[in-house]
Amino acid sequence: MLLLEGRVQHYEWGGFAFIPALLGRKGKARKPHAEYWLGSHPNAPAIARGESGRVPLIEIAPDLPYLLKVLDAREMLSIQAHPSQALARRGFAAENAAGIPISAPTRNYKDANHKPEVHVALTPFWMLNGFRPWPQIVNILEGVPEFRPLRSARTLKALVRRILTLPEPARMLRPLLARLRSESAPSRKDPAFWVLRAAQIFPDAAQDRGLFFLYLLNLVVLQPGEGTYQPAGVLHAYLEGSTVELMANSDNVLRAGLTSKHVDTGELLRAISYAAEAPPILKGESAGRGIRVYRTPSTEFELTRIHLSPSAARRRVALGPVILLLTEGEARIGGIPLHRGQAVFARDEAYSIEAGPSKVEIFEASVPAP
Ligand SMILES: [Zn+2]
Repeated sequence: MLLLEGRVQHYEWGGFAFIPALLGRKGKARKPHAEYWLGSHPNAPAIARGESGRVPLIEIAPDLPYLLKVLDAREMLSIQAHPSQALARRGFAAENAAGIPISAPTRNYKDANHKPEVHVALTPFWMLNGFRPWPQIVNILEGVPEFRPLRSARTLKALVRRILTLPEPARMLRPLLARLRSESAPSRKDPAFWVLRAAQIFPDAAQDRGLFFLYLLNLVVLQPGEGTYQPAGVLHAYLEGSTVELMANSDNVLRAGLTSKHVDTGELLRAISYAAEAPPILKGESAGRGIRVYRTPSTEFELTRIHLSPSAARRRVALGPVILLLTEGEARIGGIPLHRGQAVFARDEAYSIEAGPSKVEIFEASVPAP
C-alpha cells in the first residue's frame, strides 16, 4: 500500500473551488482546477510515496490500464466521441506514417488505444449523452424555426452528415441566437439555456456546429452517486458539475463542436455511433453493505463506490492494481491515515479500511475480474 499524489490539470473550463477544497488547499485558486489525475499517463503521472521515497507510479505500475480522475466543469467541455480500438489503431498508424507530430493541433490520435469512460457524479451534474430517440429529434426540429432547412433529413445519419457539412452554419445559428437572446431566460432543462451559455464562452458560437448537438443529444442531470458510461462512438459533453471519472489510459478525443480545437469531420463521421435512445443512467449494483459497483463492458476498469458509517471497518482485497480515493471523511486504509482528497495504490494484497469519526466515501478503481 502506497500513498499516491495526483496531478492537477488547469484547463480553462475548470472550476476554482471544488478540486482545491477536495485537496485541502486553503483560499481561492488563481488558476482553474479542471481535473485531478491519478494514474500513470505520461502527460501527468501520479507520484507514489513509500519507504524508499517518491517514485512515479509509472515505474511501479507501467501496465496500469486505466486513469482515474476527479473532474470539475465550471464551463462546458467540447462535444466529443472517442474512437473504437480498431479506429484508434488505424488512425494512430496513419498519422505517424503521414509524419504529423504528436503535439500538432491537427493530430486526432495521441496513442493507439480506445478510451471508453465511466463516471459517477459528486454534485448535480449536467451533461449530454448519446442521441435522443428519433421521434424526439423530429419534434425538436419542428419546434426550432431556424432549423427548418434540416427537416428534410429522413434519418439521423443523414441529419448529422448534413450538419457537419453545412457550408455556413451561421445562417441558422445567428438568427437562433438572436431569437433566444430576445426571449425570457430558459431553464437548465432547456437546450436553449446551454446554447446561450455556449455563446457567452465561445466568441465564434454562431459558427459552431456544437450548438445543433445541444438539441440533438440527451440532456441529462445526474444526482450524486449516479453515472453514465461512454463507449466508443457515443457523442457526449460534460456541461457543469463535479464527477469521478475512470477511463482506459488514452487521450484520444474526436471533437464535434463547442471547441476552439481541431474538428476533423471525416474522422468524426467514421467514429460516431447513431444509436438513438434514452441514456442508461448507472446507479451501481450492490456488492455488500455500502458498496456499489458501476459495471460496464470495459475490460480495463471497474469503478466502485464504498460508503462507511463513522468508526466502521471493512476488509477488502486488491486483485491487480487498485487506486482508492477518499472523497469524504477521514479513514485509515491499509494502516495509512488519509484525509479527504488523498489516495493510495495497492496491488494483490488484503487491506483494511477503518472509518474516522464521520462517514466516509471512497472511490475504488480496479481491473474487473476476467
Ligand atoms: Zn469523453
